[in-house]
Amino acid sequence: MRILFVAPEGIPFSKTGGLGDVIGGLPKELASIGHEVAVLLPHYRGTKIQPSLVHSSLTVPVGHELRFPSIVGGFTQDGVRYDFVDDPEYFDRETLYGGPAGDYADNPERFAEFSRAALEYAKLVWLPDVIHCHDWQTALLPVFLKTLYARDPILSRVPTVLTIHNMGYQGIFDRPVLSRVGLPERLFSIDGMEFFGRVNFLKGGIISTDWLTTVSRRYAQEIQTREYGCGLEGVLRNRADHLVGILNGVDYSAWSPGTDSHIAVRYSAEDLSGKAVCKHDLLEQFGLPTNKLDRPLIGIISRFVDQKGFDLFVEAADEILKEDLQIVALGTGMPEYEAFFRKLAANHPRQVAVRIAYDNTLAHKIEAGSDIFLMPSRYEPCGLNQIYSLRYGTLPLVRSTGGLDDTVEPYNPKTGAGTGFKFEKYDAASLLACLREAIRVWDDPKAWRRLQAAAMARDFSWRASAGRYADLYQAARKAGIQAAVGSSLVIGAEGVAKAAAELSRKG
Ligand code: ADP
Repeated sequence: MRILFVAPEGIPFSKTGGLGDVIGGLPKELASIGHEVAVLLPHYRGTKIQPSLVHSSLTVPVGHELRFPSIVGGFTQDGVRYDFVDDPEYFDRETLYGGPAGDYADNPERFAEFSRAALEYAKLVWLPDVIHCHDWQTALLPVFLKTLYARDPILSRVPTVLTIHNMGYQGIFDRPVLSRVGLPERLFSIDGMEFFGRVNFLKGGIISTDWLTTVSRRYAQEIQTREYGCGLEGVLRNRADHLVGILNGVDYSAWSPGTDSHIAVRYSAEDLSGKAVCKHDLLEQFGLPTNKLDRPLIGIISRFVDQKGFDLFVEAADEILKEDLQIVALGTGMPEYEAFFRKLAANHPRQVAVRIAYDNTLAHKIEAGSDIFLMPSRYEPCGLNQIYSLRYGTLPLVRSTGGLDDTVEPYNPKTGAGTGFKFEKYDAASLLACLREAIRVWDDPKAWRRLQAAAMARDFSWRASAGRYADLYQAARKAGIQAAVGSSLVIGAEGVAKAAAELSRKG
């Protein structure tokens, strides 16, 4: 099958969060199981490639003007073809989506252009069997396909899959945005893209795409509820029969204690002695005393935002620090949380250390050197760090939401089974009680080793998830062909016959 990924970011070319990791991992895995895969990304300032020209000038209407982005790239890496939409005025900027002053005001135009350029690319450069879009930045692609491109004989039969990586980001703009991006005014309706008097790009994608996915089973259920749906729960419930949760995989070639080049000493589940060296090294890196190796060290790597549960941590901090433990935290984000961590470290210099930074090497060192990884998220679509933690034998302590719930098996005091610690209720007391339970288990080294062994044996590689995506693409494709057969107006009887023959040939 030919699968086209259209995404606003992807490693190793661009990344601000977990979406970047997914676009780095999933296409490679699909290619390795025999699919033809292309990834289309914007060509940002930070995108390090040799920009060889693939197509010199696409014609892309944006509002009332025409723009002429080019396509650069065209190279293959790990079996995946990579191309980039190049329009320096829109993408040659310091950051991807905006700066401290807020999002770029022309984000609607930037990503409308990108989404339409992707359709032209699909037509002129690399025709796929299915297009897989990601988040609000590419949610307009299925909208364009179902409106302006509805009569396109080639593209109208290409099914789309839209993955929602985080409901917290929907792309909501004032009403005139519809004409700014060249969409018809009739879409401003409750059955269309209207959202409380404004226009919601993600909503447009949800109602227009053939299939919807999100990044864990639990999150797929949660987003259909008021608490987690961010206002789109009803729209999602309407599409529940086309919404599936598929857990993100992780890249164990980058995140395994047996091969990690960032950590002091490599180690394995059979021989954990290297982990103690990593703990010593981590404490030194953070300038914390190293005479407490027998006490638990808690690691935090995060964006410091409300989603990640830091309000609970702030509330519980005094009580947490009454325990005999140490904490290292790495992150950047909301100024109030950065200030809080700085103050906590200043007030407890022997117990707490923080680095306000984005530092990949340090993130690896924290995964390897900590004993407990803290992730008390309010919501978490999938989450990666808790999965990395499992592999490093660093037991995750999480709130049972989204992907955290799907990936961490809570310690069972009766059987001793489990891979970490979980609490349900979003409050500081529950977090604290869970942490105290973890410390009790820590004080029983045999029980702790057993949990570590179980955690390190868990496998969340892309293989299983890629298979599920492939099944979904196949289903979307079959439905697409059936729809086209029913509507020879769109594709022409001959085209349908050809497409159906091609489909059965490819299986
Ligand atoms: P989200 O996408 O919501 O930020 P995830 O857990 O899914 O959360 O993914 C976060 C990714 O970003 C992980 O790969 C994590 O290691 C990395 N990360 C987050 N903050 C930092 C930081 N301050 N320094 C280094 N890596 C970070």
